[in-house]
Amino acid sequence: MAQLLDGLRVSAEIREAVRVETAALSASGKPVPGLAVVLVGEDPASRVYVGRKKKACQEVGFHSLELKLSAETTQSDLLARVSELNHDSHIHGILVQMPLPAHIDEHKIIEAIDPRKDVDGFHPINVGKLLQGVDGTISCTPGGVIELLHRYRIELKGKKALVIGRSNIVGKPMAVLLIRENATVTIAHSHTKNLEAEIKASDIIVAAIGKPRMIRGEWIKQGAVVVDIGMNQIEDLTTEKKTRLVGDVDFETARERASFITPVPGGIGPMTIAMLLSNTLKAYKTLTNSPTPLSAL
Ligand code: NDP
Repeated sequence: MAQLLDGLRVSAEIREAVRVETAALSASGKPVPGLAVVLVGEDPASRVYVGRKKKACQEVGFHSLELKLSAETTQSDLLARVSELNHDSHIHGILVQMPLPAHIDEHKIIEAIDPRKDVDGFHPINVGKLLQGVDGTISCTPGGVIELLHRYRIELKGKKALVIGRSNIVGKPMAVLLIRENATVTIAHSHTKNLEAEIKASDIIVAAIGKPRMIRGEWIKQGAVVVDIGMNQIEDLTTEKKTRLVGDVDFETARERASFITPVPGGIGPMTIAMLLSNTLKAYKTLTNSPTPLSAL
C-alpha cells in the first residue's frame, strides 16, 4: 500500500513559513507582499479558485486585491488594468485567472504582466528562464509537484519519469522541471500510441490530463511514484453536493501498487496555492531590491 504524499500537510508548512516571514516584515514596519488576482467574467470554477487564493493571501498576512471585471471587459481595458497593477508599488504579484473570455487574447495579457510580478510563471521570459535553467518564476502547479517530491525525499535522478499532458501551464513546465532533476523524461499526450506501455515502463508518473480516473491501477509499475494533478468533478449522488472531486488516476487501485501517491483532493491542489504564496514573497523580495517598473528600465 502506497504512502500518501500529503499536500495538505506540506502546504500548511509552506504557508506557515510565509506567514512568519510576512509577520516579521510587518513588525519591522516594512510593507508586506501584495497579490492582485484578476477575474474576468463569471466562470464558477474560476470564482472558487480566486476565492481560495484570496483567502490564502489573507491568512498569511499579505495585502490582497481582487479585481472582478465583467465578461464584457475589452482586451484594451484589461491591458490598462494590468499596466496599473504593474506600476502599483503595493502589488508584487499579479495573477490573471484563466481561462479568459474568448474575445481576449490570453497571450497578449500574459505578456503585458511585468515578468517580475508574474507569480504564475506564465510570462515568456519566465518560461524561457525555466527552459534555460536560469532563476525565474516557476509556475505554481509543477513547482508544487517538485516541492512535494523533495519534501518526501523522493529520488528523481536517473528515474524514468512520464508526464501525461503537454499543456503550457502544467505538462510542459513539469517535464522541464523533471529534466532539471536529472530524470529521463517522456511526455505523453492524446496522440500517444500506447499509453499503458509507457506507464508500465515508468518509475515516476505525473498525470495532468483532465479525464476522471483514466489511469488504471494495473498499469502502474510496482513501487512507482504517482502524482495526480487532475481535478475532475464527477457525479456522486451519495454526497450532499451530488458531485465529488477525483483525479486522473484510479486512486484505490493505483495505491495498491505505487510506493507513493498523491490523493485528490489534498495533494497537488493545496501545493499550487502554497507555491503561489511563496512565488509572491519571492517577487516581493526581487521588487524591493529593484523597484523600477520594467517599462522604465
Ligand atoms: P489541458 O486540457 O490543457 O491539457 C490536457 C492534456 O492532456 C493535453 O496535453 C492532452 O493532449 C492530454 N490528453 C488528453 N487526453 C489524453 C489521453 N487520452 N491520453 C494522453 N493524454 C491525453 O489541461 P491542463 O494541463 O490545464 O490541466 C490538466 C488537469 O490538471 C486538469 O484536470 C486540471 O483541472 C488539472 N489542474 C490542476 C491544478 C491543481 O492545482 N491541482 C492546476 C492546473 C490544472 P493533447 O495536447 O494532445 O490535446
